[in-house]
Amino acid sequence: MVRSPKYIENSQGTLWLTEDERDHLKISYRIKDILHEETSPYQHVMVLDSHDFGPMLVLDGVVQTTSMDGYIYNEMIAHVPLSVHPHPRNVLIIGGGDCGAANEAAKYERVERIDLVEIDEAVVRASKRYMPEVSGGLSDPRVRYHYEDGVKFVQQAAAEYDVIIVDSSDPVGPAKQLFEFDFYQNVHRALKEDGLMVCQSQSPIFHADVMLKSYERIGRLFPHRKLYTTVVPTYPGGLWSFTIGSKRALPAPESIRFDKKARYANEEILRQCFALPTFLQEMLKNQ
Ligand code: SAM
Repeated sequence: MVRSPKYIENSQGTLWLTEDERDHLKISYRIKDILHEETSPYQHVMVLDSHDFGPMLVLDGVVQTTSMDGYIYNEMIAHVPLSVHPHPRNVLIIGGGDCGAANEAAKYERVERIDLVEIDEAVVRASKRYMPEVSGGLSDPRVRYHYEDGVKFVQQAAAEYDVIIVDSSDPVGPAKQLFEFDFYQNVHRALKEDGLMVCQSQSPIFHADVMLKSYERIGRLFPHRKLYTTVVPTYPGGLWSFTIGSKRALPAPESIRFDKKARYANEEILRQCFALPTFLQEMLKNQ
């Protein structure tokens, strides 16, 4: 039975999730089953078992992460900042309810504390239950869960973090403010004097406007910033951007070291992810 007619279409006996990208691009995934569905106070939450990507987390009809390719995004949003910071001890993750980024951050023995600030507890519950490939079933005692709005959390946070990871959903609904200047300003304030932040800054192909705004806003606050990319098959266009803002100079890529067990990230990948295609270099030139 299809319980989500708003998001799931039953076409001649086969189920499809269709993501609507700004009304002019549709991406459809064939679905085997609806594993979980609920409407939380913040959003519509589903875990769908898909043909090609296995279980996938879908919020308000938009794919967030999948069991098949979630590791690429989560490793790249966590290991790049944690490798370029010389001694990360206190880590704050805003969003990230699938627990994938926290699971990667927990691989660093030197990390003493990981504050995970996710507005929606329903996302954490569903991800831990149905997507252990992504969440790792995370039960590390260093992880402290805070079910609250990340915007308010950073307004009140002391300057005690070495690394802040903004692992947000797209800039709509509760995540809209996670792309605003005021939010970045509070992130900057919550970092120690040698701290750095990273955010997912959307697709350089389909959301260049969002990416450039984040890049410009971060550049107004931090003396050092760098954009890097990776490829995530389930995100529109594949190519995905992340932006680092740092209070102190970032190391040269060739000096980055990495020795964690990972499926996508390795020392070569972490060093070369800062190499940008020409069109992207051109786009960033005047920001
Ligand atoms: N990797 C994913 C992507 O780029 O599509 C996003 C990871 S994670 C699922 C994003 C999380 O951000 C969601 O679980 C959502 O509930 C959470 N979120 C959105 N707005 C938030 C806010 N203001 N404070 C804290 N968490 C928020």
